[in-house]
Amino acid sequence: MSRTTPTDEEAFPALTAAQIARIALFAHEREFADGESLWEAGDRNRPLFVIVQGEVEILSGASHMVTVHQAGAFTGDVDLLSGRPVVVRARARGAVRALELPSARLRSLVQTDAELSEIFLRAFILRRVFLMAQGGTNIVLIGSRHSAGTLDLQEFLTRNSQPYGYIDVDQDTAVQETLDRFGVGVDDVPVFICRGTRVLRKPTIEEVADCIGLNQLNETTVRDLVVVGAGPAGLSAAVYAASEGLDVLVVESSAPGGQAGSSSRIENYLGFPTGISGQELANRALVQAEKFGAELTVARTASRIWCESPYRVDLGAGVGVQARAVVIATGVRYRKPDLPDLTRFEGVGVYYGATQVEARFCSGEDVIVVGGGNSAGQAAVFLSESGRSVTIMVRAAGLAESMSRYLIRRIQETSNIRLLTETRIVRLEGGARLERVTWRDRLGVETTAEVRHVFLMTGANPNTAWLQGCVALDEKGFVRTGADLDAAALAAARWPFARAPMLFETSRAGLFAIGDVRANSVKRVAAAVGEGSVCIQLVHRVLAEPPA
Ligand SMILES: Cc1cc2nc3c(=O)[nH]c(=O)nc-3n(C[C@H](O)[C@H](O)[C@H](O)COP(=O)(O)OP(=O)(O)OC[C@H]3O[C@@H](n4cnc5c(N)ncnc54)[C@H](O)[C@@H]3O)c2cc1C
Repeated sequence: MSRTTPTDEEAFPALTAAQIARIALFAHEREFADGESLWEAGDRNRPLFVIVQGEVEILSGASHMVTVHQAGAFTGDVDLLSGRPVVVRARARGAVRALELPSARLRSLVQTDAELSEIFLRAFILRRVFLMAQGGTNIVLIGSRHSAGTLDLQEFLTRNSQPYGYIDVDQDTAVQETLDRFGVGVDDVPVFICRGTRVLRKPTIEEVADCIGLNQLNETTVRDLVVVGAGPAGLSAAVYAASEGLDVLVVESSAPGGQAGSSSRIENYLGFPTGISGQELANRALVQAEKFGAELTVARTASRIWCESPYRVDLGAGVGVQARAVVIATGVRYRKPDLPDLTRFEGVGVYYGATQVEARFCSGEDVIVVGGGNSAGQAAVFLSESGRSVTIMVRAAGLAESMSRYLIRRIQETSNIRLLTETRIVRLEGGARLERVTWRDRLGVETTAEVRHVFLMTGANPNTAWLQGCVALDEKGFVRTGADLDAAALAAARWPFARAPMLFETSRAGLFAIGDVRANSVKRVAAAVGEGSVCIQLVHRVLAEPPA
């Protein structure tokens, strides 16, 4: 998965006769005439087809040929497991005979047949990487590198593994023609063309998710478990809950991966000695959760929790979901330094994450990274690969207190990274985008330089506003759990049981908090993943417990 485009054999393997025979036990045979459609882009819950005779063309956009499946090949990508609308369409070439395996049976098969499970999941993920690299679909973003809204949508689509075409108004001379075709003014950028028909001007991520079908929701059932937040902690809880038979829904305000999704390379997660990008880790975890039957809805933000069981989580606009247990995994959000004009330059020179998307903007240019933690160190090392120079600015006298040794060494060994200690930014200036930055050192001396990119990695606050009044929080707003809850906190919450709250259980029975949002948590991917796993054992106990 480290290449951007996998090879044909990796993404489109042929099944053996023995493997096809095992699939045939759960499938039925279908025939298609030459030119007949097997499915159209936008269809949901499509079956998987194994081609027995003839050929099947997979097309994206108007007529872009993604691949042609021959006998022995199988159709499908990650949308088969997620139930999202498919992004490609399929057409018979010649008379086709195929085995049709409905998506529910596919899900059972991947849980019981380890060999087929590996072949399918690997191919599904690689095909999505393939499509993302090709970008040829009828979903098109028309944007500008000088527009913050464009960056937000690019990140949203990329982190949700949604293939899309991109046209930059600043670089593509034919763009005006495209805009004219839809009667859209240049000031309406970013423009989102959804499935070749609907045109959204300056849409929110909620509108985009709605249009391409990423935020489907069944509001009527009371689920065993709702997990709020799809960072490493929430995704881990979803994998363990679904694999152990719980009916689980994950609600995510943006895209799977959380903070880890904005990390270019995580090097200290067990089992990945050469590191893994946060986005890749999140994609794999999501496919794993969906393989076991977990549901995910994105671009939906928990705005309030009703504190009686079954719990109801409000998702805005009168929409809500109910569950007998809730896992709070909403993590933290970046802290913003007190700087005039900061919001004006967000997305157009000021960034809070350093992924490939931002790195492209800074290629060959000077960059400032503010912060002395591991996320700042990683960002500096990553950006030094494409940027001309990277300046790390910290208020402290050095990095030793706050950053891992291996990153400090990496920074010292990288010739285009410099460190300015006891220094802070005092002014950001520019027109439509950031153009100049002024900083002040320990002696009060101010320096101004033409720098167009500043990465702020200065810590974070917990996402707990939606919980106010329901569970006990510490003085900084993190959720208190287990042994962190003293007698006073339990009395205030009218804790109903003779037993004490379990590990990761909040001051309300059946509400759990895991990962970075939890008071006194270890702020690491592995810790968040571990807590997600352990917490599901405790959810089982609560679900089996008689009411107080
Ligand atoms: C740039 C960067 C690099 C890092 N590198 C490493 C590393 O190399 N190794 C390491 O171990 N750790 C690293 N970390 C730390 C690690 O990413 C976090 O500890 C981990 O992501 C915490 O996981 P979490 O699931 O608890 O929370 P988060 O990752 O913060 O995820 C929370 C999720 O909840 C969602 N959410 C928030 N509020 C709501 C709401 N109201 N409704 C619905 N959804 C909501 C958010 O959108 C988010 O997706 C890094 C962090 C950053 C920022």
